[in-house]
Amino acid sequence: MFDVQAIRSEFPILESQVHGNPLVYFDNGATTQKPNMVIEAERQFYLQHNANVHRGAHYLSACATRQYEETRSRLAAYLEVETKEIVWTKGATESLNLIAHGLQNHISKNEVILLSELEHHANIVPWQQLANKTGAIVKAIPVDSQGIISIDVALEYIQRYKPRIFAIAHASNGLGNIQPVAQLIAEAKKHNTICVVDGAQAFAHLAPKPIELGCDFYVGSAHKAFGPTGVGFLYGRYELLNQLLPYQTGGEMIDTVTIEHTTFNDAPSKFEAGTPNIAGVVAFGAALKFIQAIDRRTSQKHELTLRTALVEELRRIPNIVLIGDHEHNIGTVSFVVNGVHPLDIATLLDHQGIAVRTGHHCNQPLMQKLQISGTVRVSFSLYNTLDEIALFITALNESLDLLK
Ligand code: PLP
Repeated sequence: MFDVQAIRSEFPILESQVHGNPLVYFDNGATTQKPNMVIEAERQFYLQHNANVHRGAHYLSACATRQYEETRSRLAAYLEVETKEIVWTKGATESLNLIAHGLQNHISKNEVILLSELEHHANIVPWQQLANKTGAIVKAIPVDSQGIISIDVALEYIQRYKPRIFAIAHASNGLGNIQPVAQLIAEAKKHNTICVVDGAQAFAHLAPKPIELGCDFYVGSAHKAFGPTGVGFLYGRYELLNQLLPYQTGGEMIDTVTIEHTTFNDAPSKFEAGTPNIAGVVAFGAALKFIQAIDRRTSQKHELTLRTALVEELRRIPNIVLIGDHEHNIGTVSFVVNGVHPLDIATLLDHQGIAVRTGHHCNQPLMQKLQISGTVRVSFSLYNTLDEIALFITALNESLDLLK
């Protein structure tokens, strides 16, 4: 039995009123809210254990280092990978930039970097930069007129281009659809392709296992999974990870330095130059404990129940067009209303306490392909409820009446 009220009671912000109405937070794709244990972990770190990591011979530094490294081990255990294969970054964006920068010596002129049309800009622009530096070529698997990638089309693109690098979102941020990454990676691996999975959206919902997916790299952001902002991670298959060029240089990531020459540490330290977000990583450890205490199958089922309920309600409202509607989804619904700008809807919903995201969702190529300027996106988390959907539908109908 999934006790959503017990879960909600862990999230103090969900008690808030916004413009005199109870907050309905449906913008979890942008960032999730934080449970008490995460807020408390960050507070306790500064109250009791604040010091720099890996440096001091003193008690506090040892405490800080232990907690920082324990979180790395906790994440590695959750992903079922080795601890040394986890690098801390400041978010999925930095992780993708780090990988794309680090792979410079692994790709040559005219080799293909294959993406898809539904990638977030964070999984497009770093690859364009890599292509600009190396003469590689960026190609993208097209979505269909609904914004969905057909497996057959994706397999055909992989076979056609035999890419050197294949980078794809585990779940799309604009539409929430889950991509068949394991199947696509199995095909890409026949061509010795380096496979990168952007798990920014999927991580909080799917309990991903990079080794089962067969990828070389898997990235995510703590803040989209109940953790703090400013912390992200990347998993890298160790042999390849250790070969990446360092992304930033400075303290911590070095082995020896003379004025003329530097040798670098091995991964993961090679990629963690400077003082990291120690309190944030420690608080992410608490977020991981929160996630691990929840049965993922039941929470996923709950999120999909919410999605189905909302889709059914939206189908009854004239002029609403669902975008990328597919059952294989993390719990996101994207839609447009014919003749109404998404921002107008979001503004009126906000007046009623409802938080949704509108716009292109950092998915401009997808929006261009679908010939729309943006969508209204409802993205659920495990603490959302059917009652909130009822409030949303009432508020949406009232908003559409006003906009008539
Ligand atoms: N990739 C996807 C699919 C995303 O949804 C996002 C953020 O929305 C990112 C990457 C970038 O994540 P961050 O802004 O936390 O670095």
